[in-house]
Order: sequence, then C-alpha cells, then structure tokens
Amino acid sequence: MDSVEYDNRTVTRGALQYTGKAKQVFTTDDPNILWVHYLDQATALNGKVKETINGKGELNSAISQLLFNYLTENGIKNHYLGSISKTDELITSLNILPIEVVTRNYASGHFVSKFDAVAMQQLSPIVQEFYYKSDALDDPFMNDSQIIALGYATSDELSKLRYESLMINQRLTELFQKANIQLIDFKLEFGRTKNGDILLADELSPDNMRLVDITTGNSLDKDVFRKHSGDVTVGYHEVLTRLQQVI
Ligand code: 5GP
Repeated sequence: MDSVEYDNRTVTRGALQYTGKAKQVFTTDDPNILWVHYLDQATALNGKVKETINGKGELNSAISQLLFNYLTENGIKNHYLGSISKTDELITSLNILPIEVVTRNYASGHFVSKFDAVAMQQLSPIVQEFYYKSDALDDPFMNDSQIIALGYATSDELSKLRYESLMINQRLTELFQKANIQLIDFKLEFGRTKNGDILLADELSPDNMRLVDITTGNSLDKDVFRKHSGDVTVGYHEVLTRLQQVI
C-alpha cells in the first residue's frame, strides 16, 4: 500500500526518512505529513537488545491510536492525524525536540536503581525529568540550564513540556484507572510546528509507559520484555482490550 485517501485527497508514501527502534517513518508527497509504520520489534537497553515479536506492531498502533484520539478529545494537541491500516498512521511533520520527558507517579525503573528509592512508593510531587535523546550516549539526564545553553529548547518551551506532560498524566491516569490499570511512569516526546507551537509526538503505547494491573500487580508493559518474564503481547493485548471497553 503506497497511497491512501486522507481528508478528501490521496496521500502517497515517499522515501524512508528514519528507522526507529519499533517504527519506520516515511515522507509523503505532502511536506506537512509523515507516514509511520509500526514494526514487530522490541528493543531494550537503548537498542542494544533487539527481538522480533509477531503482532506487536499492530497492538502498539491500535493502543496509540486510541490514546491519541482520547487526548485530542480532551484538549491535548498532538501530531496524530489518523490510522490508515492496522500498522500505519499519518502524523504531522514536526521539528522533534531532542528531549525525552519522563513523568513518574510511582517509583520504578531507573528512579529506584539510581536513588535507592523504595519501589512503587507514590511520589509527591509527581516527578518530571528531562533526558537528552541519544542512544549512543544512553539518553543522559539533562537539567534546564544544560538544555537551554545547548539550544535544545527555550525556557518557555520547557515550561510548556512540564505543563503538557502534567495534563497528559492527569488524563491518562484517569483513563487507565477506569480500566483497572495504574499508570506508574511514562516517556513523552514533543515537536515544534512551523509556527513554533509545541505538539505531543512519538507513540503512546506500553513501549514507553509502565502499566500495572491494579488487582494483580502484574506488569502490562515492556518491563515484561526487559526482564524476560513472559510474552509482552499478552499484557499489550490486555491493555488494548480494557481501553476499548472504557473509551
Ligand atoms: P526509566 O527511566 O525508569 O528507565 O523509564 C521511565 C519511563 O520512561 C518508563 O515508562 C520507560 O518505558 C520510559 N522510557 C524512558 N526512556 C525511554 C526510551 O528511551 N524509550 C522508551 N520507549 N521509553 C523510555
């Protein structure tokens, strides 16, 4: 499939622009639109561990679609335009900031290993962290002055990233709670439009958020792959089914 109908016109896929850890991004004949293809791939340790997992692309695409549509309906501006197949979607072309924004509601992952924190304790205030997006450097932590001095974002943009991430956290926490799932933490990426607006970008899936079943305490996210504790698609499928029931 190289062309699709979108918004009463035909959009045609162009060259491969970039292959990420779980997605490919193509140009289209419209300079404002990119074409994303979700891969059946999982990685850990910033790409050092890689595996093919059948069906994962479809699951992530379906979950991401539900969450972006939900956020759009709840007033969060984002890059998602629409799905065009079970594994492909169209997005707005943005100038992506080289910053990963991590939000933590409960202590887990690196927050526990770096700070000797008690796992799963509730965090107050909610913790917000910035990381420089670089696999080669293992995504190092960055503070505000480092980001501003290197020109990766302005002070105003950092305030927007913090505000938007808190809003998104509020909306997603409410939604996941309806599905009996606790949102532990997540990573977001943002980009600038040509007008300088900041929009939520990337994907919204269990690849970049920790999700725990409130009743059983079981992980429903990529930690299952990171810790080799089972088949990740089982948890992803559970997340998708529960979201479909509550959205
Ligand atoms: P941690 O810093 O504890 O490893 O991760 C915090 C949260 O951000 C987790 O939900 C994790 O999935 C997400 N996260 C952090 N860095 C990355 C990354 O480079 N890629 C992806 N997909 N998620 C990340």
